[in-house]
Amino acid sequence: MRVWVDTLLRGGEVHRRVLLEADETGTVVAEHTGSDRPTDALALGVASAGFANGHSHAFHRVLRGRTHVSGSFWTWRELMYRAAGRLTPDRYRDLATLVFAEMVTAGWTSVGEFHYVHHRPDGTAYPAHAMELALVDAAETAGIRLVLLDTCYLAGGIGQPLGPEQRRFADAGVHAWLDRWHDLQALIAQRSPRVTLGAALHSVRAVPREALSVVNDALPGTVPLHIHLSEQTAENEDSLAHYGLTPTGLLEAEGVLSPRLSVVHATHLSPADIAALGRAGATAVFCPTTEADLGDGIGPARELADAGVVLAVGSDQNAIVDPWLELRGLEAGERLRSRTRGRIDPVELWRIGSDGGHRALGLPEPARVGGPLDLVEVDPRSVRTAGSAAMQMPLSATASDVRRVVVGGAQVAHDPVELGAALDRSITELFEEDV
Ligand SMILES: [Zn+2]
Repeated sequence: MRVWVDTLLRGGEVHRRVLLEADETGTVVAEHTGSDRPTDALALGVASAGFANGHSHAFHRVLRGRTHVSGSFWTWRELMYRAAGRLTPDRYRDLATLVFAEMVTAGWTSVGEFHYVHHRPDGTAYPAHAMELALVDAAETAGIRLVLLDTCYLAGGIGQPLGPEQRRFADAGVHAWLDRWHDLQALIAQRSPRVTLGAALHSVRAVPREALSVVNDALPGTVPLHIHLSEQTAENEDSLAHYGLTPTGLLEAEGVLSPRLSVVHATHLSPADIAALGRAGATAVFCPTTEADLGDGIGPARELADAGVVLAVGSDQNAIVDPWLELRGLEAGERLRSRTRGRIDPVELWRIGSDGGHRALGLPEPARVGGPLDLVEVDPRSVRTAGSAAMQMPLSATASDVRRVVVGGAQVAHDPVELGAALDRSITELFEEDV
């Protein structure tokens, strides 16, 4: 497989007339710059290395346009639990296929799916990892690269038992979760090279202190590990009251902070938390459109990056599926809280969207030798991007400006009209009791 790119945006740099060759797994094995356009290669105009979505819950997509009137994060969570309660493996496969198709159409070539709807509503197991394999099937059908972040979820809050709506998220204990994770890993290893298994601790709310290091120590060091961290001040208050430590302080005390850890949101952090995450070389996955929608607050992205934390972005609740808007939202949040422009410049935004996201998912950087041949072609002369310098397109483009998407060396395409109609049918069916 060969792809030729006239103008390649990669690693915050512009490369001209690049020919990339991939092997049968879709991994780049050769690169030639200054190359004439070959007649037998897919030819792209202006293209970026693929974007990696560092944090997604595919099923939250059903809440788009249904929750935006009032309430708090906690009232939104009640609606999300209701949607989760209606998922079956077949519904989950159908819905996630469409959501992943929307993502790849928007320019996300990889996704980290933070998955916790494991079991039947009463907590009993489906046979043969039905919910997990529904997501794997969905990614393969949609053509997106998937890192399935199977999530350990054991408690309803710090020192709290599970609520009835949380039973399907939970395993009997940390060792039961680990057994299920290893069993699933063996199954996923037999699937396409575009699907891998990672892991997540839901949060310090849902995973008791004694289980944190058990998970971290039992997983192979190459496996990416994610956790929701300090999205809400209430989590910090509960952690301080119960443990005498912030959530970050608790993770540090338990030895969980490391370069393979990605902390999601990282909104309400102390200076000591920021320093600890920086010393560890962890990744922080910001989800700016979700954090704005839920009224979470604005996390200290610039301070984290300056302390040594790698930044990435994710679509989280999928009320918006657009890597450009996540990147723009990251810089917009910085400007609003600091009243200064250019806190995260466009070169850094490109790196965050592509290289940072891949690092969060334990994937090699794309569109270079040893990495996946994943590319997003952008229209530089749309009504939005016309006149924009190529490097400044994170501040001008949107998902509507994506022309063609390449994953693993092959073009992936979905008809947006059919996709919209299918999403509407799928979501209406899930809510049919309400309409
Ligand atoms: Zn999340």
